[in-house]
Amino acid sequence: MEQLDCCAAPKAEAARVPCPGCGANGKPVGEETVQGLLIPEALAALGVQGRSFCRTASCPVLYFAADGSVAHKAQARVRVGMKETEGPRPLCYCFGHTYEDVAAEVAGGGACSIPTLITAEVRAGRCACERMNPAGNCCLGEVNRAVKEARVAVGLPLDGPSPRAPVVPDERRP
Ligand SMILES: [Zn+2]
Repeated sequence: MEQLDCCAAPKAEAARVPCPGCGANGKPVGEETVQGLLIPEALAALGVQGRSFCRTASCPVLYFAADGSVAHKAQARVRVGMKETEGPRPLCYCFGHTYEDVAAEVAGGGACSIPTLITAEVRAGRCACERMNPAGNCCLGEVNRAVKEARVAVGLPLDGPSPRAPVVPDERRP
């Protein structure tokens, strides 16, 4: 049975509001993410309850809280790739891959080694997405989306066979 506590914080779900900048629903983010990404003044001005990340590319609001306070992308310690239109647009914040890296690889042969490289680093426990990625989660979903977009941009089918096989070094090969 749940204990009553007059000082308990309200449930985060109940406090969710849409982004004041674009009206879209945000994605909940944790303390570690806003602390890792925001400059101190912006962190201090952002409400504590119901903190969310705005995923809308054209919206300058990076984080917002249930009290209507916001932190803009210009107040982040990094360029927020998904909210920029000019390169370099960071895509993987832990290992430094950009949207331009993905586009160049795809344009150069159709295949993209970046998701494989990131997967290997994640498996080795070397990622720090919670405090490095503005979205507060692993970048692989967005990386795979960027690969598909890059394929469409050069006229390749989304998931079809690549004109050239990916070059993946395999040490176990005889
Ligand atoms: Zn927004």
